[in-house]
Amino acid sequence: MAGYLDARPRVGYFYTGKTGSQLLTEKVKKIKVAEFTSIPVVVQDSATVYEAICTMFLEDVGTLFIINKNGHLAGVASRKDLLRASMGKQEINSIPINIIMTRMPNITYCFKEDYLLDIAHILIGKQIDCLPVVKRSNEESGLEVVGRITKTNITKAFVELAHDELL
Ligand code: ADP
Repeated sequence: MAGYLDARPRVGYFYTGKTGSQLLTEKVKKIKVAEFTSIPVVVQDSATVYEAICTMFLEDVGTLFIINKNGHLAGVASRKDLLRASMGKQEINSIPINIIMTRMPNITYCFKEDYLLDIAHILIGKQIDCLPVVKRSNEESGLEVVGRITKTNITKAFVELAHDELL
């Protein structure tokens, strides 16, 4: 009966008047990125496009985060970025990933404390699959990558909510 009933001192339990869908909406709005974040897959900005392709394949992810020598977020490379780089006459064994990646400051990122629903809106609005979860580094203005939120993570949250409703 979570949410349907509430308790007050001297009053005892009372009916909150909230409908099932109101309670579900409240629940959805409270989910934080931290609850559904995955492990990020990162490559150094000095790696070649070929190495990035191998990492993406072996780690079974759709987006790689590129970090600079200080360990800070420098860019993002998606499946299509790597495909595009492989289609031309360029030598993928020698082009560094930082030539073809989407780079800072054009990267959209989020923090563990952000709401998952806001991230879902961003992914849809910007038509991208994934956001790096970051924390501010102690040094300068760099961002450390601490996680990854993809459309799959949001689907997992959706399934988990449905499961909770059945219990
Ligand atoms: P794919 O290209 O495999 O369909 P996306 O739709 O996620 O994957 O990526 C589309 C483009 O947006 C790519 O050029 C990629 O580098 C860029 N991109 C992906 N994620 C982000 C992000 N979080 N911030 C900025 N650009 C991104």
